[in-house]
Amino acid sequence: MEIPFSESYKIKMVEPLRKTTREQREKWIKEAKYNLFNLRSDQVFIDLLTDSGTGAMSDRQWSAIMMGDESYAGARSFFELKDIIKKILGFPYFLPTHQGRAAENVLFSALVKAGDIVPGNSHFDTTKGHIEFRKAKAVDCTIDEAFHTELEHPFKGNIDLDKLEKVLKDYPKEKIPFICVTVTCNSSGGQPVSIENLRDVYVLAQKYGVPTMFDSARFAENAYFIKMREPEYANWSIKEIVAEMYKYADMMTMSSKKDGLVNMGGFIAMRDSELYRSCSTFNIMFEGFVTYGGMAGRDMSALAVGLNESTEFDYLETRIKQVEYLGNKLIEYGVPVQRPIGGHAVFVDAKKVLCNVPKEQFQAQTLGIELYLEAGIRGVEIGALLADRDPVTRENRYPELELLRLAIPRRVYTNNHMDVIAAALKNVFDRRDKITKGLEIEWEAPIMRHFTVELKKL
Ligand SMILES: *Cc1c(COP(=O)(O)O)cnc(C)c1O
Repeated sequence: MEIPFSESYKIKMVEPLRKTTREQREKWIKEAKYNLFNLRSDQVFIDLLTDSGTGAMSDRQWSAIMMGDESYAGARSFFELKDIIKKILGFPYFLPTHQGRAAENVLFSALVKAGDIVPGNSHFDTTKGHIEFRKAKAVDCTIDEAFHTELEHPFKGNIDLDKLEKVLKDYPKEKIPFICVTVTCNSSGGQPVSIENLRDVYVLAQKYGVPTMFDSARFAENAYFIKMREPEYANWSIKEIVAEMYKYADMMTMSSKKDGLVNMGGFIAMRDSELYRSCSTFNIMFEGFVTYGGMAGRDMSALAVGLNESTEFDYLETRIKQVEYLGNKLIEYGVPVQRPIGGHAVFVDAKKVLCNVPKEQFQAQTLGIELYLEAGIRGVEIGALLADRDPVTRENRYPELELLRLAIPRRVYTNNHMDVIAAALKNVFDRRDKITKGLEIEWEAPIMRHFTVELKKL
């Protein structure tokens, strides 16, 4: 008999989960104004709101916490992190920050000015926010295949070289501070970028004299997909693949809350000493001195260990196989999901599930509420609420896709939890024809409304 797959870790510490009744959940979600962000975490049984900062640290990381050096300047923890960044990612200079968007704030303060153009693959929302805040423009050059949910393509995070070259031709290099490549591409569903594409983008960037920046939150998951899907690299170790990926970047920003395997933290890394100097000033202003920049010494030590662990094949195999396990279960049950299954989340196509709910009544949010009521599972809406209103006309924007994202925290849940999630969604799916009414907005903020919106059941 073939030996089945199992997790590459065992469990040393546990945290109780609270089971709740449907009556309780109905009361709580009403009090939360049908906004899943307003629920208290102890009202949630399985929390799939995000994979950011929600992972479990290893015993090695907790040991590192105890060994952290809290010196203001020149802490040993800083050098532990510096050494691992040099070893794994190859960058000689780095600056710690309190999270990913802080890294963007510091780097973009040094590089992005009004009127600039930043091409890339579906920029993450805070990245885009920091670009637009400086009155610059993010141009999406992702391949067209990324926007068809059912189309199978191994690297849906790839950049379309023709789209990119057009931008590089249309604007002088002084107007393009860098190209931003997100690995894996969060906004297209945790989809990877191939080495071939990273190399081609870099060659093109060099030709036009423009630097390349990697937005790196899920760089290790990207490397795993390269190993599995890009035949040339099938026999390379994850660390070898990561080193190869970063040969094609001049600088990077990192949200350490994902593949850093810590609950808070981020950094910027670069090759250029002049850029390091100009970023240092902004780091000191916004984050903290250059050797701690918003992170406690112990957290830098834990991050150093986390970067080493997340670039191990066994860890990544356990991680990605769990996300695939949930995705495949849903496919088996006939629930429409985005394909191929991404690295950190499963995206349910809410338009195809709740066909009887008009889009004006927020299909993905309605599905999210139904899933919560069914079994206390919290996902997140990626649809019309998130898309917000048109800044000029103030009309609701209805994106092509209404998705319910189920993000899986790292090393937190077991496959039994995945079975619960799949069964709960199947139950909602089986009674989909009876769900004919959605939600209506009672109150919303002028921007970023999805976090605080208050809704009413129709
Ligand atoms: C999470 C994330 C960020 C922002 O990082 P925070 O730590 O949440 O501030 C930036 N880019 C990508 C691709 C991300 O996934």
